[in-house]
Amino acid sequence: MKIERHDRSCNRRGFLRRLGALSGMAAGSLVLPALVRGRASPTAASAGTPASASKERSREPSVNSSHARECMFYKKHPEMEVECEICPRKCRVGDIERGYCGTRENRNGVYYSLAYALPCAIHVDPIEKKPLFHFHPGTNAFSLGTAGCNMDCKFCQNWEMSQARPEQTSNVHLPPKETVEKARQASCASVAFTYSEPGVVAYEYMLDTAIEGKKSGIKTVMISNGYINREPMLEAAKHLGAVKIDLKAFTEKYYAEICDATLKPVLDTLVLLKSSGVWCEIVYLVLPTLNDGDSEIVSASKWIAQELGPDVPLHFTRFYPIYKMTKLPQTPISALEKARKIAMNAGLHYVYIGNVPGHEGENTYCPSCKKAVVKRIGYSIVERKLSEGRCAYCKAKIAGVWG
Ligand code: SF4
Repeated sequence: MKIERHDRSCNRRGFLRRLGALSGMAAGSLVLPALVRGRASPTAASAGTPASASKERSREPSVNSSHARECMFYKKHPEMEVECEICPRKCRVGDIERGYCGTRENRNGVYYSLAYALPCAIHVDPIEKKPLFHFHPGTNAFSLGTAGCNMDCKFCQNWEMSQARPEQTSNVHLPPKETVEKARQASCASVAFTYSEPGVVAYEYMLDTAIEGKKSGIKTVMISNGYINREPMLEAAKHLGAVKIDLKAFTEKYYAEICDATLKPVLDTLVLLKSSGVWCEIVYLVLPTLNDGDSEIVSASKWIAQELGPDVPLHFTRFYPIYKMTKLPQTPISALEKARKIAMNAGLHYVYIGNVPGHEGENTYCPSCKKAVVKRIGYSIVERKLSEGRCAYCKAKIAGVWG
């Protein structure tokens, strides 16, 4: 997903005009790009301890937001301190301070979500771009992102929004009801919370949108790093249509050094999603020399097969140099092919290669007769041999939500 950046000429009136024109736009259309005001250079973002609110950012005035909404899942402590319980960082935040993600602020002992209903990027994307290959294929997702993230991955392709605070991006006010209405006008089957980490750092916005969308049959999907606590994830899973989780590697070392986070909570989220029954797909971005070792891919694949079952789609995607990782080469296609083979040998039924348009690893193959039941080129479906979720050739069931 490529987000245009630094469209400094666009003012709020311009945003709204473009948003109003949404209903005439096709998939892939840019509705509202990520608009970023005066961000620090990428090297300014610091590493910190995952359990603290230590991501250093210059203290700036609170976002002037009359839209801020009181957070869910937090505890009040003496002397107006609060403790956020949305994600494993469990930030303890003093008065007029924010948590690590920079989007939640303590005001007189009450914790507020500042990114609520304030997306800074909106696009109409094919659902395949999320990527979700087994969830209403061929439909569009009304896709939005807000400022902020609870990780700081050195390879983030959307770092200018993920590492920003809401006052550092140019936003449009789009409450849940209007979000769903815009999605409907754009003929989207779903709303995707994506690009940065809006499903976690703007959790309440996603949850309210999911609840609103259910009234009119628009499903909400969460495109996420999975770094979220059990209770909020359980609550959201009741209302979400699908979730895509980034399994960024299979070692704590990688999570600590590359993402400023930890692996265990992500695995816990995957297990929880499996038990909740919400449709889930996994992306593993393959970084040369850092998470592409055979033993790590074997361990990850076996864990998925054993803990989640063989039907969870796994996408091995190609890395391109960006952000703090410009010296690393792009992933060789041979490394992706090797990873795919390992995962299939571990028993996984649906293993894909991503970011290599035209590769046969983009297709869905029937696990029974091995024939291609969905052929893709990039995000486009070029042939579909599926009928009511079954292989057109041998009638075997293909796991997914086909609609
Ligand atoms: S959601 Fe943000 S404020 Fe809450 S614990 Fe996570 S990083 Fe901290």
